[in-house]
Amino acid sequence: MSHILIIGGGVAGCTAAMELANSGVQVTLLESSERIGGKVRAYGCKATDRCNNCGVCLAAGLWDKVEQHPGISIMTGSTLKDVMGAKGNFRVLVDGQVGRSTLAGFESIIVTTGFDTFSSVSSGSVEHPVQAGIISGYRLEELLAGRDKAGILPEAPSSIAFIQCHGSRDIHEKAPYCSRVCCGYSTRAAKVLRQYYPSADITFFYMDLQRVEAGSYFDTLQKDNIEFVRCRPVKIIPGKPAKVAFEKPGAGGVTERAFDLIVLSEGIHPAADNDRLAELCMLGIDENGFLKPVKDGKTAGIYLAGCASGPKRIEEVRAEALTTARQLLAEI
Ligand code: SF4
Ligand code: SF4
Repeated sequence: MSHILIIGGGVAGCTAAMELANSGVQVTLLESSERIGGKVRAYGCKATDRCNNCGVCLAAGLWDKVEQHPGISIMTGSTLKDVMGAKGNFRVLVDGQVGRSTLAGFESIIVTTGFDTFSSVSSGSVEHPVQAGIISGYRLEELLAGRDKAGILPEAPSSIAFIQCHGSRDIHEKAPYCSRVCCGYSTRAAKVLRQYYPSADITFFYMDLQRVEAGSYFDTLQKDNIEFVRCRPVKIIPGKPAKVAFEKPGAGGVTERAFDLIVLSEGIHPAADNDRLAELCMLGIDENGFLKPVKDGKTAGIYLAGCASGPKRIEEVRAEALTTARQLLAEI
């Protein structure tokens, strides 16, 4: 029976693992943190009175299925230290919960190590979500996941600001690209906030907006009394309340507005471990720091899927993982 090693237990890794294991392939899933599921495991549903297509439930039940599948061995708290051999018979050195071990006999390896959030990699040149009233988009996801009928936040806010492109489209943060996901999750989160806090002022400060859904998506949000202010990058002034200082192009001067809650819509950054992984797995690094293949998977036996190779939405990650697993199945 073929044996595949998957490095990374997020949506991509778990999706590929299920697809392979359901076809009778033996899978070992290596995850550096203490549980599989990656960041998406902490994300909240963004339905209001209807589904808002955030994609989070594409992973519903996935973690349990992976944990219970007899064909998948999960090694959490485990880090890849070395890769030896070649396609058809890879051996790897792993630092795990019971020390260092060598695993052998892998036909191929799929790298699905995901991404880092801006708040986890930020260089200090912009404000950090360290004090009450300023939170990251990731923290908002956690709050949405934990919401109940009583509310999302400890106290009902009267004003909420979203700061778009936080840490993205920024050459100083080595992230000149669009992260592709933050317009989607933040505007969907705003719909949920609007439902819970109907009288709150909700304002988006943005430089650019990514198409989220077909049709007049942003017009609909504006009709729901969500304001969009196009401006140059804002400055956040910590305090109680925290303020947003912004300059509208052509308007002249800087305006300051206070908000009860400021959400930093952070995006997708290359994982800090990418350079090391690239060297171990014979992969390359692209101009933004994401992993890229050097040889095709069929030749090298090393495949890539998910946000390890760049920003992707959940549905794109899932589709790519399925495609990769099916490609592998066709080759073994
Ligand atoms: S998790 Fe997202 S896609 Fe699923 S029901 Fe909720 S809003 Fe819809
Ligand atoms: S998805 Fe939206 S918020 Fe995120 S970087 Fe792109 S334009 Fe900016």
